[in-house]
Amino acid sequence: MPIYEYQCKKCGHEFEQLVFGQEAPKCPTCGGAKVCRLMSCCGFISKGAGGQTVSASAGSSSCGGCSASSCAGCGH
Ligand SMILES: [Zn+2]
Repeated sequence: MPIYEYQCKKCGHEFEQLVFGQEAPKCPTCGGAKVCRLMSCCGFISKGAGGQTVSASAGSSSCGGCSASSCAGCGH
């Protein structure tokens, strides 16, 4: 099973989580369910752009908050 890196949208805590299928992990610190996968999602993009919002050119995105095609955790 792959290990993904996530960031909690509630408290900002970053953690790694074993993910089974499309299961969305919860923040181990505050228990918040709104977490974002850093590898391909909001946190990674906003960090790389210095806090600015980067608009993805990919029109196939199903997530309004990031460029990931399937973001189960960011709440969009
Ligand atoms: Zn949290």
